[in-house]
Order: sequence, then structure tokens, then C-alpha cells
Amino acid sequence: MEHPQRVDELSPSGTPQSAAAAPLAAAAPPAVAATSLPPLPNLPASDVQFLRPQDPHYADLLPAANKLTQLAPALRAVCKTEHAVAVMVDWVRSNGLNFAVRCGGHSYEGLSQSTDVAIDVRGLQQITVDKASNIVTAGSGVSLFELYSALAAQGLALQAGSCPTVGISGHLTGGGHGLLARSHGLTCDGLQQATIVDAQARTLQADASSEPDLYWACRGGGGGSFGIATEFRISVFPLKTALVFGVSWTLSRAHAAQLFAAWQDWAPNAPSDITSIMKVGPAGNGLISMRCIGQSVGSESALRTELKHLTSLQAPSSALTVRSLGFLDAIKHFAGPLDYESILMKAKSDYVLTPLPASGIAAMMAAVAPLAPGAIALLCDSYGGKIADVAADATAFPRRAGTQYCIQYFSSWSRAADTATHRAQVARVYAAMRPFMPGASYVNYCDLDLDDYATAYWGDNLGRLVAVKQQYDPDDLFHHAQSVPLSVPDV
Ligand SMILES: Cc1cc2nc3c(=O)[nH]c(=O)nc-3n(C[C@H](O)[C@H](O)[C@H](O)COP(=O)(O)OP(=O)(O)OC[C@H]3O[C@@H](n4cnc5c(N)ncnc54)[C@H](O)[C@@H]3O)c2cc1C
Repeated sequence: MEHPQRVDELSPSGTPQSAAAAPLAAAAPPAVAATSLPPLPNLPASDVQFLRPQDPHYADLLPAANKLTQLAPALRAVCKTEHAVAVMVDWVRSNGLNFAVRCGGHSYEGLSQSTDVAIDVRGLQQITVDKASNIVTAGSGVSLFELYSALAAQGLALQAGSCPTVGISGHLTGGGHGLLARSHGLTCDGLQQATIVDAQARTLQADASSEPDLYWACRGGGGGSFGIATEFRISVFPLKTALVFGVSWTLSRAHAAQLFAAWQDWAPNAPSDITSIMKVGPAGNGLISMRCIGQSVGSESALRTELKHLTSLQAPSSALTVRSLGFLDAIKHFAGPLDYESILMKAKSDYVLTPLPASGIAAMMAAVAPLAPGAIALLCDSYGGKIADVAADATAFPRRAGTQYCIQYFSSWSRAADTATHRAQVARVYAAMRPFMPGASYVNYCDLDLDDYATAYWGDNLGRLVAVKQQYDPDDLFHHAQSVPLSVPDV
């Protein structure tokens, strides 16, 4: 199994940098003591599970993917019905309480965390597959793996990310790219309808004909800005098998730059059957480790021919492997641990909108090479293909035709004492790339260091998103550190 975001894979020694050994980050004590909360809404256990710090199962639902962001709410309301979500929205609004909306808890910056109230949709777990229409109806609390498993049992598949415990809510509303992205588009591109509880606690059906602006915003506008999604209806497709591939190199800076240039030329323009990720990291002794992984829904011979763009240029240090796997096994192959992982981490991102010049690639290699193996991984997700078939203003997700790839600068570590060092390393590599980058970032790789996050995430779609925010949430009830603002920032 390999996980695109596991930095340790890039270590030539294979030394695992197990985050599991890390001490639990202290979850901040609730700012609102559970005892000083107003009386809780009168809801039966079939609608909601209330969890306060003294409750036996309180700790079970606490972990956040990024341990650095984990907070302990005075109240977690695990909603099992849309009615419960509506009642909770009404309750937090009428009592003026701070709250966050949580699904899978994979927000890199903890935008689903609160010390006061967490409205948690993980009780919304139903999944219904309609094989006649190839539509899945999923409660907004399911994880990607739960969805993949239900679909695979019916011979169906969904295009979404590789981490099994990511929640559908944050992932889909922010876009969602994975190893079927070039063949089938982003996760948000399959959305047919979202059920949303708005700031007035009304239930809205957002689709192409009803609440079309809200439907538009749900596809790339990110989570936590317009209301609470309770259900998604998503188009899926038959897929029995997929080819998974991987090939690695350990190279000098100059050779690594040559190979990266070849990947950059090839990957966004390859046949749309093929989606690849190029991982770049330090290999020690000033060398660069590169690994190209991916999936294809085309033929093996065509894939092998295409990969010669890379393998004929530089001799791999570990030979190309290509395997045909059933859809769920292909997911597991890249998924990493299926159990919820909570790690210490930092990430930043860039969209490359025109190919990097040679000087930009050289700067990347120069910034990475001196670092210790495992210090950082640059994970480059190829775009193009079906992602580019959707117009840039057709959904709130703006990075369409012309977008080459997304770079994620990712680091995870196991000792809390190393946090400052790792964050500084990520910041230094990111800084080295500033002269070559257009200032576009991925909302699902949220980053509190961004000066103007709204422009970085939504570019030319920001104005319409602001108008949707004004229409559906004029009092900014659904607010977090990087929610859609009520006006276009004057930067
Ligand atoms: C290990 C790991 C691997 C990842 N891999 C990929 C990948 O392969 N591809 C990719 O595109 N991204 C990937 N991501 C990023 C992931 O898509 C985002 O972090 C996503 O937003 C997580 O969604 P969530 O529901 O798990 O997170 P949460 O933290 O629960 O929510 C994220 C945001 O959505 C809001 N939200 C949650 N539920 C709702 C709801 N029901 N209604 C409205 N708003 C809601 C929250 O308030 C928050 O602002 C990965 C992240 C991690 C940590």
C-alpha cells in the first residue's frame, strides 16, 4: 500500500516516520464550560448524540487529522438526522454560541474545530445506490472509504481523493482531486444535488434548477460557509478494474530537474485515462528522490508506452510496477492505513497555471536537496483531462483549462518538539518558489499563512461566491478563519 501523502516513502532507507508514536497534542480545554451551556435542545437519541467532556465516549470522536489543530468542544452534537442539524443551527444562532461544522476532521488548519460547540455530521451515515441511474445518495457524514466500499459492492466507482478517512463534506465542497481526476473529473463535478440546512435553519435542495447559485457554490466554494450539508446526490460510474503504477528515481539535482521538466510536459497533456502524481523530496547527500505514482483506466500497453516519457529519460532506481486491481483494491493500494490517523503536519499549496520555467524547476530542486530525507514532500497532482472540460465559471472551483498541476508542500513529523523546524522547512521551500508562482492555492489544502486566501482559493469566482454568501448567510453565521467573506477583500 502506498499513500501519496506519506513522506516516509520518499526516504531511500525506508525508515518509517511513524506519526503513531507521537504524543497526543493537548486538546485545548473548552472555552465555554459544558456546565454553562444553555439548556440543550430537546431531541431524542434517535436524532442526536450529545457528547460533553465527562461523557464516556467523548474522546472517541475527538481526533483531528492534524493533531496540531485538535480542540475539545464543550459540546459535540453528533447529528443523525437533518432535523437534528436544523435544530442545532437554530439553537447555536438563538443562543449566540460559537460553533464549528465537522465531518471527517481533515481540515489541515482545523477549520472544523471549536472549543465551544461542534455540530458533527458523522451521524448522517446512510448510503443508497441507485444502479438504474448510477446515482449515489450519501449522508454528509460518510468517509470516502465508506462510500468507495458501498459503490464497489455494486461494481461502481467515484472520483475522489486517496485518503480513506477524509469526509465527503469537506472534500466534495472544496473540489476533490484523486487518481481518477483526469479520467472522470473532480468529486464536485459529480454532484447532482446537495441538501443544505441554511442559517435560518431551513432545508434547501440545491441543484441545477432549485437554488442554482447555492448549487454552484457547493462545487468548489469549500465547506463551512453557506450552511450545513446533510446529504449529497452524486453521479457515479461503472468501473471494475484500474491499473495502478509506480516508479522511483534517486537523482542529482540536474537530472531531477530534467525528469521533472519531462513529467511537467507529459502529465497534464497525457491521455485522460492516466492520472499521475509526481512526488519530489530530499534523498540525502544533496540528492533528490522522485516517485511517479498513478492510475489508468486505459490499456496496460498504452500506459507503459506513455510512461516511457519518464523511464527512457532517467534510469529508475526501482523498476516500474503496473498492476491491474479491482476498484476497491486500487483505492486500498494508495490509501495507507484505513484507521483514522492523527498526525503532526503542515502543508501549503500552489497551482501551476503555466509550465514552470527551467529556473523555477532548478529553484525547486535547490530548495529540496539540502534537507534531510523525509523532511518534506512536494506532491504534484496532474490536472487537465476531464477537470479541464468544465468551464472555469461553471462551478465555484476555478482551476480548470490550462491548469497544469497542483503542488502540495507537505511535511509530517512524530515529535512535537520538531514542529517549529518542520514548519520552517516547509515555509522555506514554499518561499523559494514564490518568484515562479501565480498565487493560486487549493482550498482543500487550507493554509492560514496566506495573506489573501479568498483570491488564492477562488480567483475570478470570488465575486460570485461573495454574492452567494450575501444571499444565503448575510449575518455570517457560518464563519471560520477562511470562510467565504461577505465582501471581496481590499488587498
Ligand atoms: C491525510 C489527508 C489526505 C488528503 N488527501 C486528499 C486528496 O487525495 N485529494 C484532495 O482533494 N484532498 C485531500 N485532502 C484534503 C481534504 O480533501 C480536505 O481536508 C477536506 O476539506 C476534508 O474534509 P473533511 O470533511 O474530512 O474535513 P472537516 O475538517 O470535517 O471539514 C472541512 C471543512 O468543511 C466544513 N464542513 C464539514 N462538514 C460540513 C458539512 N456537512 N456542511 C458544510 N460544511 C462542512 C468544515 O467546517 C471545514 O471548514 C486530504 C487531507 C488529509 C488530511
